[in-house]
Amino acid sequence: MLSIPHSLTGAYIASQIPHPVAYGPLAIAAHYLGDWIPHWDFGTGMNSGKRKKSTAIIFEVGELIVTAILIYYFFQKGIEQIQWHIWAGGLFGILPDLLDAPRNFLKFRMKFLDPIYNLHHFFHHSTPNMFFGLLPQVIVVAAIYFLR
Ligand SMILES: [Zn+2]
Repeated sequence: MLSIPHSLTGAYIASQIPHPVAYGPLAIAAHYLGDWIPHWDFGTGMNSGKRKKSTAIIFEVGELIVTAILIYYFFQKGIEQIQWHIWAGGLFGILPDLLDAPRNFLKFRMKFLDPIYNLHHFFHHSTPNMFFGLLPQVIVVAAIYFLR
């Protein structure tokens, strides 16, 4: 999935269960569950050569900025004290993708992370159909907006 639903899910979990021993593993587990749903993201088509890596990187950086703005708007706005657990939850929510990024974009593979790469690959299901690939992600973001 995109970083937006992954991060917002992690942030939402942290808002409900603000202890890092709980929200860390739960946000990571939610990432794998989210990736299991067939989805479209900026990496879709990269392996088949339909999307250039440089394009995917530019979109991904832009999306991370939008993600931070949405976390702020959903959970931080109007609260003076920084909600560290929310931001940490958001980070845990995209941790599997962050660990995979050097391998995906720079061909820099850290061998000791192979079990994590394999687990991520096992759960990852994408679809080239943008509409049906984005729909579940829009539903996740809308659900978090109303539940928070
Ligand atoms: Zn992922």
